[in-house]
Amino acid sequence: LSKNAASPAFVNGIERKLVSEYKAHPIVVQKSASVYEAIVQLFLEDVGTLYVVDENGHLAGVISRKDLLRASIGTKNTEDLPVSIIMTRMPNIVIIGQNETLHDAARKMIDYQIDSLPVVKEVDKVTNTYSIIGRITKTTIVKAYLEIAGL
Ligand code: ADP
Repeated sequence: LSKNAASPAFVNGIERKLVSEYKAHPIVVQKSASVYEAIVQLFLEDVGTLYVVDENGHLAGVISRKDLLRASIGTKNTEDLPVSIIMTRMPNIVIIGQNETLHDAARKMIDYQIDSLPVVKEVDKVTNTYSIIGRITKTTIVKAYLEIAGL
């Protein structure tokens, strides 16, 4: 069934909702932070993914729950292991811009099998430098879906 089958859900649905309107506050850690600190941060902020920033506050990496679990069973001292060693790093990070739609975000999360996307603003195209201005998660999509359905 094509999306052009003009159902009301598509006319006013996530196809039309902008990331800017739904993005949540991004939770970040410094590149130099330890795996131990990242785990504490994950619990304190009640999130599943942390974004890693460099000295200039630019996006350097992503750390998920499973990244931290893997690192924890692979090392004796999580306080001595910097997150920069285990993170998924640029340029392999899947990002989203705030003028893209929730549908674009949903598509990327499914295609790349990831739970969250950093919402970014480009700082420098040539060097692949971005600042982080928010996050979109699978929960964001589910909440928007319920809202759109009026539930
Ligand atoms: P979990 O690993 O806890 O199930 P995810 O499914 O989101 O969480 O992450 C799967 C893998 O993909 C992890 O190694 C993580 O670092 C990586 N990852 C998570 N989000 C992104 C992203 N936006 N871009 C690239 N890689 C990501």
